[in-house]
Amino acid sequence: MKNYDLKQEQTLVIVKPDGVQRDLVGEVIKRYEQCGLKLVGLKMVIPTKDMALKHYSIDPEWAIKSGTKTFESYKAKGLPLPGKDPVEFAEGIRRKLPDFMSSGPVVSMVWQGMGAVSIVRKITGSTEPLTSLPGTIRGDYTIDSYTAADTDSRAVRNIIHSSGSVDEANKEIAIWFDKKEILSYRLVSEEIIYDVNLDGILE
Ligand code: UDP
Ligand code: MG
Repeated sequence: MKNYDLKQEQTLVIVKPDGVQRDLVGEVIKRYEQCGLKLVGLKMVIPTKDMALKHYSIDPEWAIKSGTKTFESYKAKGLPLPGKDPVEFAEGIRRKLPDFMSSGPVVSMVWQGMGAVSIVRKITGSTEPLTSLPGTIRGDYTIDSYTAADTDSRAVRNIIHSSGSVDEANKEIAIWFDKKEILSYRLVSEEIIYDVNLDGILE
């Protein structure tokens, strides 16, 4: 493949505590593995609340983006908004996320490959399981909603975290992994995915 750098894109995936409790670790790994991405880091940890808060504080725009997305979803369903201001609302969610993320073991992974960030987001599905498309992990394996979570004053249980951009991914990976825990190796299948020529298949 000519643009070799594209192969090096990395993204962070976390199977959240609800995903581990729902016995979905294997299924989740299978989905990302079978699409052609390469697993280059893997560990099971019980996150501290500090780690979780740090993780959700990387993007200075997060509260605006996430709060607006949630408010738009309420509007699209014709439901009364869950608060006055989307940023203030999202800041409330940010305070709830550490409780959720530190409630049990999670499985953190680094996946690598061409367009890894976008490919993983596509397979993961949109934030609210109620409206995540079938075929995605969030759409297929759980049923939570903004309204259910907000009624109970908790974070949405949507099985997976995945990085939203390359910049976010690089910063998030540094929180969850030491450099030496990210492995550099070749997969035979990469030749089929990336090589210009497929010489050598036929005998
Ligand atoms: N979240 C929530 N309520 C909201 C928005 C987000 O509980 O109204 C939680 C949910 O667990 C989500 C996480 O906060 O996965 C991070 O939100 P973000 O908007 O970044 O969604 P994601 O990138 O995970 O799809
Ligand atoms: Mg996000």
